[in-house]
Amino acid sequence: MTRFPMQEEVRSFIEKEEAGCIGCKACMKGCPMLEEWCENPKMLLGELSRGDFPMRMPYTCLLCGYCTRVCPKDVSFRDVFFRLRQESVRHFDGKLPKELRVGGVRMHQTLSASPLIASKIPETETLFFPGCALLAQSPEIVEKTYAYLQKSVKGLGITNRCCFKPTEYLGDAEKFFDYAAQLQRDFRAAGVKTILTACSNCYMSFRRHVKDIEIRSVYEVLAETGLPAKKKNAYRDGGCVAVHDPCPTRNEKPMQEAVRALAKELGLKTEELSFSGARTLCCGTGGMVKMTAPAIHKKHVARRAEEGGDGTYLTYCRECAATLTENGRPAVHLLDLLFGDGAVRTNQGLLAAWKNRIGARNMGKKPHE
Ligand code: SF4
Ligand code: SF4
Ligand code: SF4
Repeated sequence: MTRFPMQEEVRSFIEKEEAGCIGCKACMKGCPMLEEWCENPKMLLGELSRGDFPMRMPYTCLLCGYCTRVCPKDVSFRDVFFRLRQESVRHFDGKLPKELRVGGVRMHQTLSASPLIASKIPETETLFFPGCALLAQSPEIVEKTYAYLQKSVKGLGITNRCCFKPTEYLGDAEKFFDYAAQLQRDFRAAGVKTILTACSNCYMSFRRHVKDIEIRSVYEVLAETGLPAKKKNAYRDGGCVAVHDPCPTRNEKPMQEAVRALAKELGLKTEELSFSGARTLCCGTGGMVKMTAPAIHKKHVARRAEEGGDGTYLTYCRECAATLTENGRPAVHLLDLLFGDGAVRTNQGLLAAWKNRIGARNMGKKPHE
């Protein structure tokens, strides 16, 4: 095997992680890919630091952070694989090998940044940032959520922009920082002081990269303001739902509690999956492995889908809801319960998704009924 070239700084980071690892294997319990590559994580870290690994290995990691959260020694395979993705992009001069099938992700990000899709950010102090997945798949729910939030947040604006986390997760740091810097300039020019996000990925991305702007989740805001009156106890005959916490916000306890409080107000009973809260498992689409490692994606989705009993999962990530539903576990998005008919939805096709994104450019310009 050819040794994978990497910068000295990255090599010494991995060596530090290897030195810290005690080989307890706690990280392997909820991870879909470590067992595919090793029997002993410490030995794997040694191989990684020497560059003895297939190029595609970092792209089989979901970047879900489970390993980091459970490791008793603060070793982070997630950070190791993330940095190796960045090394891959550098090594291949920005053009990742075809076998990783990331062309569609690149296209999505280029279009998302183009004036054809991206709306101008309206002048406002508080901006609703639903996230492009929710806008592409459920524009009517976004519109209703926005209308409801406007009642309690004066002058609330909305945008159809993308947070560009897919570019960051591909490992293309340079391109990501270009996109992110433009977004921040646009936020500042519009006078934005607070962003309300409905997407776990946008939330974490902004928390990490956006300076001097308060980032809040709509679920916490809605838990504070309360439900639309007609929705109180609306699902009291809906039985019990198991909560699937999206992996990016595994450490965001207030958000997780807000979601459970809202479910309770809706009249639902919630139960916890074996892996929930900080130890939640990814739905299987993290790190874009659906494209880069389809077999690992499939296996992990099946595992997560089988974890609960017979009922429906409740989640607050549009991609999680669709992925689990498409793989045999009905999963409903909280906003569909709050502002829609509570239907379980799969993803719409690409054409419909782009049409919805373009249509969303006008959200906030039309008066609400
Ligand atoms: S949990 Fe941490 S210490 Fe244990 S094997 Fe995994 S990386 Fe090593
Ligand atoms: S981030 Fe997730 S998929 Fe990647 S090594 Fe850690 S647990 Fe495994
Ligand atoms: S779709 Fe949900 S669980 Fe899956 S990676 Fe995204 S946030 Fe994580």
